Amino acid sequence: MQQLRKCVIRGLARSRHQSRHAHNASSDIYDVVVIGGGHAGTEACAAAARMGARTLLLTHKLETIGEMSCNPSFGGIGKGHLMREVDALDGVCGRCCDVSGVHYKVLNKRRGPAVWGPRAQIDRQLYKRAVQKELHSTQNLEIRAAAVDNILIEDEQHQHRRCTGVVLANGEVVRSHSVVLTTGTFLRAHINIGLEVRPAGRMGDAPAKALGEAIDRLGFRMGRLKTGTPPRIAKSSVDFSQLERHEGDDPPMPFSFLNSHVWLPAQEQLPCHLTYTTPLVNDIVRNNLHVNRHVTEEITGPRYCPSIESKILRFGARVHQVWLEPEGLDSPLVYPQGISCTLPHEQQVQLVHAIKGLEHAEVVQPGYGVEYDFIDPRELFPTLETKRLPGLFFAGQINGTTGYEEAAAQGIVAGANAAGKTRHADGRQLTISRTEGYIGVLVDDLTSLGTNEPYRMFTSRAEFRLSLRPDNADMRLTNKGYEYGLVSEHRFRHFKQAEERLQSGMEALRKLRKHSNYWRQSLDLPTSKASVEKTAFDMLAIPADNITVDKLINLFPTELTWLRDDNNLAERLKIEALYSFFVEEQQRDVEDVRREERLAIPADIDYFSKVLSLSNEERQKLSLIQPQTIAAASRIQGVTPSTIVRIMKYVKKADLAKAEHSRG
Ligand code: FAD
Repeated sequence: MQQLRKCVIRGLARSRHQSRHAHNASSDIYDVVVIGGGHAGTEACAAAARMGARTLLLTHKLETIGEMSCNPSFGGIGKGHLMREVDALDGVCGRCCDVSGVHYKVLNKRRGPAVWGPRAQIDRQLYKRAVQKELHSTQNLEIRAAAVDNILIEDEQHQHRRCTGVVLANGEVVRSHSVVLTTGTFLRAHINIGLEVRPAGRMGDAPAKALGEAIDRLGFRMGRLKTGTPPRIAKSSVDFSQLERHEGDDPPMPFSFLNSHVWLPAQEQLPCHLTYTTPLVNDIVRNNLHVNRHVTEEITGPRYCPSIESKILRFGARVHQVWLEPEGLDSPLVYPQGISCTLPHEQQVQLVHAIKGLEHAEVVQPGYGVEYDFIDPRELFPTLETKRLPGLFFAGQINGTTGYEEAAAQGIVAGANAAGKTRHADGRQLTISRTEGYIGVLVDDLTSLGTNEPYRMFTSRAEFRLSLRPDNADMRLTNKGYEYGLVSEHRFRHFKQAEERLQSGMEALRKLRKHSNYWRQSLDLPTSKASVEKTAFDMLAIPADNITVDKLINLFPTELTWLRDDNNLAERLKIEALYSFFVEEQQRDVEDVRREERLAIPADIDYFSKVLSLSNEERQKLSLIQPQTIAAASRIQGVTPSTIVRIMKYVKKADLAKAEHSRG
């Protein structure tokens, strides 16, 4: 009681009134309270509970736990990497996708495995059901439907102020040692369709107005972002016969390291279809800008998942792809990926009808935009705890990101650290560095650079992408997660087995040393003058489809037969071999950049030079900001580490040429 008296609840007049009448439903104090049952919140509460923390998930509605607000898909390039890492830390989303996917495809397959993007179309209902089942059966986790309106603070006026719980909309106080806030697009949000504006966090859900105001009053630096979603179309009204049909991969690749296969809910995967916009779509967008509030608002939208309006305004009369994606096995809807839009309903129907195959399509739900508050993520430590208020953590879209996977990745970090506050008396924290994972890249980018537009993950954001591959996320993270108490015994045993088999496989291959003549003859390699000894592992590193583990097993049956029948291990060995040399080379590049951080970039550098081969975004940003050194350039968001290496080499070459010129 004494402690409760010490609590000061900041808030609106309404919240103050509520706090006077606040009743503590339970005298217990939770270790961790998580607010929001979206993709960050579900990972956060599952992570905290896995660590043995007594955890409570508070979310608006039980039935929207695990809701996919926008696209019916998970993964992709960069995003798939994050999912594999979340899974390596024993997270939820990968396993749930493996039982709810209806169309699996590894993107970027023509490029190396480091940048493959595991992705799947997901049945929304099956996914939600799988997440809810998982959470309801998680030990140490309680779940309640409730809106949180305020944050409870102890010792507010003093040096040791800290977050000690939350206040619900009904005035009830819930006390906890830590709070993880994962309210996505809901803080002071409204949605836009044409000129119509409604307060909502997403279609059909009220916004979190009081909580947004409470966070604002706490002094957090906040900003405003926007995003949008396309109209939904009745499947029965689409003329698929005119469209390109795309099948999923056979066999489909699971997301989770625990699974050797996925569980398809039907005998066959569902197809996706591709169509394109027409010039009429451009006209409809341009002629209706005056009735499209969302587009004319001066708020930054997602650069990497832009609305059809932004694409047309930015790229002019180009034709744009529209993917028709299944919403689920039994869903009567299709999701037209690529035409997120906020025109009035009637004009959306016209726009849809202007697309091949959709001439008679029925628009069942219009697209809409959402504008919401986000918090400057530089307010956070890399543990995702706020610097301003110990005990309070933020994760997910509230930190300026976009996407389920980015949210899940932050959720697992925040949940683990929130639990760590009570589980680890020695103050240990879980942080992941940029060398260890894309989660590290994401958290470091956010907490050190902040963001001024919805942030999404790309492989190009990572300097170590040859070693941060989807195939080896478990080798990078599972042990660390286990030592922190985040990874279950079951997962750890599974990982240890995989690790031992991989190590033994590499050792066995490295022991098989033969002269190059032998390899040339046995593997049908072109003749060369080289006359050295090479190991079977060296030979596997040759990027040729015909040099496989199977072929090596045939050459050395006695030593390698045990590798047969484990396709997964065979693929892992091939990838390890392929990258062994490049990983070392990459490390040298990274060290070069570190050494040359102070290298001056000349003011007259031509960022449009073909030699530099920069993206439009990089050209724009570098020309505008004019960084004076390599270090300054590397801090500009959107400028990739490989670009920094190219600029560094370019500047050094130019310096050398100048020096030679002045000498000569
Ligand atoms: P959410 O998944 O939004 O979950 C937030 C949860 O918090 C909800 O369950 C909500 O009910 C709960 N909550 C909020 N306030 C309170 C409160 N006060 N008390 C209790 N519970 C509360 N991503 C893309 O990658 N590409 C896109 O094109 C894209 N378009 C989008 C379009 C729209 C309209 C929306 C809404 C989102 C879009 N997203 C898109 C983003 C994607 O949905 C999010 O990035 C992802 O869902 C964020 O996860 P989260 O856990 O941070 O928040």
